[in-house]
This record gives sequence, C-alpha cells and structure tokens, in this order.
Amino acid sequence: MISIKQFTFNPVRENTYILFDETGECAIIDPGMYDAGEQNEVVNFIKEHGLKPVLLLNTHCHYDHVFGNKFVYDQWGLKPQFHKGELYILQAIPGYVPQMGLHYELSPEPEVFLPESGKVSFGNSQLELIFAPGHSPAHLCFYAAADNFLIGGDVLFYTSIGRTDLPGGNHSQLINSIKNNLFILPDDCRVYPGHGPSTTIGFEKKHNPFLQ
Ligand SMILES: [Zn+2]
Ligand SMILES: [Zn+2]
Repeated sequence: MISIKQFTFNPVRENTYILFDETGECAIIDPGMYDAGEQNEVVNFIKEHGLKPVLLLNTHCHYDHVFGNKFVYDQWGLKPQFHKGELYILQAIPGYVPQMGLHYELSPEPEVFLPESGKVSFGNSQLELIFAPGHSPAHLCFYAAADNFLIGGDVLFYTSIGRTDLPGGNHSQLINSIKNNLFILPDDCRVYPGHGPSTTIGFEKKHNPFLQ
C-alpha cells in the first residue's frame, strides 16, 4: 500500500509529493523545493521515515514543478523522468524565470523518457501513466490503481482546471484529456493536484464548472 506525503512549496504554492510503501522505497514527484528550508523539510522527512528515493518523476516541466530537480539529483543521484514532449518546456525555464525575479538551479535532463502509457514502479508499487496534454504539451498523470488515487499535476483541480495560456497550452485539448483520460477513472478515485486541495473524480464530474 502506498502512503502519500504532500508538501506545498515555492512562491506559487506547488504541491510536491513523496509516495512510499512498506519496502521503504519512495518516488518523489514534482519536487518544488525553492530554498534551503524547503529542501531540509524533504530531507528530514525522508530520514525520519528511513526512506530510499528511487524515482524522480515530473508530471510536466513548468518551473514550479522542477525547482527541486537539481537538489534531488545532488542528494540521491536521481535524474528526472517525464515525457519527451516536455523537454523543450524544461529547457525554456532559464529564459524566463530570472525575469520573474526567481532563482533556478538547472535541472538535469532525463536518461529515461516516459511513454504516453505504461507503468513505473518503486518498491512493491506501480503507477500507471496517463497522458493528459493541454495545460502543457506532454503532461502525464500518475495513477495508483491498487490504492485508487491520481497524482494529477496541473490538469484537474478542485472545482477548476489547469491554465492553458502558457506556451504549449491548448484549452480544448485539456478538456478532452480530462473527459477522455481522467473521467474514466473510478468516481471515488482521489486526485492529488499540483496546486490546492485534493478532490475526487466523481466530485469534479458533478461540480467542476469547466466540465459541465
Ligand atoms: Zn504547470
Ligand atoms: Zn503548477
């Protein structure tokens, strides 16, 4: 069974997740640590729980979701894994983040790119890949079928959806991704998004104003 630890980091309050199971192996998803204090929170959590990071995943490569990639690489030797279609989004960050007055430590690039469908694993646990472009060009969500939850990134939020005005964004593609690729999950599937509180597929089907 997978346990979930959620942190909320950096100036845009991005949710960073650590997933771990009974083996002690863990996956770090969308590390958004921006400063030493946030980096220490992650290190302390991993130490306190005796975890071994074996997987660094990015749902997509907007700056707020990859701020901590370099730190994770330095600490645990993990290179990020994400869909190849996000690479130019990652490579664009040094061109715009300084103008926002923010500091960015260059993320390593993947050795392994993730496909549109398939699975990744850590410990005894598996995560299914769900391709959900629209907010960004090759966004992936990670579905834990055995535990019925989704690490959703910036696709579906509590009563909202991801913005589509950034480079590579496409509103109708995002709506299609949600309706065709996420709304096929069980209604009681809990969604842990990249920003804000968690929700469920069933709740958003009923109440999300963008998807009626
Ligand atoms: Zn984003
Ligand atoms: Zn975000």
